Amino acid sequence: MGEFELIRRHFQRANQIDRPAVALGIGDDCALLQPHAGFQLAVSTDMLVEGRHFFADVEPEALGHKALAVNLSDLAAMGARPLGFTLALALPEAHEDWLAAFARGLFAMADAHVCPLVGGDTTRGPLNICITVMGEVRPGLAMQRNQAQVGDDLYLTGRTGEARLALELMRGTDWATEACGSQALAQHPELRLRLERPTPRLTFGTLLAVLGSAVHAAIDVSDGLAGDLGHILQASGVGAEIALPALPVAPLLQRLPLAHQLDCLLNGGDDYELLFTAAPIARAAVEAAAKASHTPVQRIGRISAAPGLRVLDASGQPVPVSARGFDHFA
Ligand code: ADP
Ligand code: MG
Repeated sequence: MGEFELIRRHFQRANQIDRPAVALGIGDDCALLQPHAGFQLAVSTDMLVEGRHFFADVEPEALGHKALAVNLSDLAAMGARPLGFTLALALPEAHEDWLAAFARGLFAMADAHVCPLVGGDTTRGPLNICITVMGEVRPGLAMQRNQAQVGDDLYLTGRTGEARLALELMRGTDWATEACGSQALAQHPELRLRLERPTPRLTFGTLLAVLGSAVHAAIDVSDGLAGDLGHILQASGVGAEIALPALPVAPLLQRLPLAHQLDCLLNGGDDYELLFTAAPIARAAVEAAAKASHTPVQRIGRISAAPGLRVLDASGQPVPVSARGFDHFA
């Protein structure tokens, strides 16, 4: 199977998603996309590298799912609606079954969010998957990191920490297996899904953005809640308090020694939840958007003028935490 046969067989689908935004898809030197008149183009790229972002033996179907999901999560964080994506793929060899399973996971995610594959590049090399998503958003509605305001409520969709716990269980880390049991991953398949098949909060993100001026900053939590919140705080020149009792804690995380539980919650990574700020006047509207999109949303704290992040326990006392987001070169 040559390069072009590979593309044709696995990535150029006859029953392509019908999306008027795609004027020209796979097959020419460029794809042509047509955003709605007056919309801005939102563009984001994420790369997954074997050994860095996934294990060599991960199910290819899950990998296809995750590669697109993490990119769609970036669109969700800006409130953009997907238009299409490109796929740059380096493969050590063209293995039929692997490619078929990878494409299955990829296209299931693409179909679920009406985001067609419009082009890419395919080359031989160490396994590396790079996706660029393109979306559209009305000017002024994208939720930027620098827009948090003093007095804003701080919200989180879903809950953090489970992907990290799953990773530690897969690695056989002592504190994880001692607290949850060595069979925890087999007994709780949903935990592994949190790591391998994240759900981008796209519907909620786009609903949130159209609420308009009362919704301020947003970010998707990929490198840990505390670290990613730090990006908002720094860009906006503000600080924040998180009320620890308001943070949702998954049942399995409750079994962990407190220090590890906090580390999973605040520094876990790979959560792909949305963290956002909004003026208190928007509370009912945020709740309605959450309900309409069946998205669990929790108010976990507030934005304040004093710089830095403070995590407070039930009695309002600061809990010592190290806010270290994941950094590939630290
Ligand atoms: P070029 O020589 O212009 O880079 P290629 O020969 O690499 O074009 O690709 C041929 C067509 O197939 C292009 O339209 C390109 O976008 C598409 N393509 C290549 N690899 C992929 C892929 N992995 N997924 C989707 N489309 C791809
Ligand atoms: Mg090429």
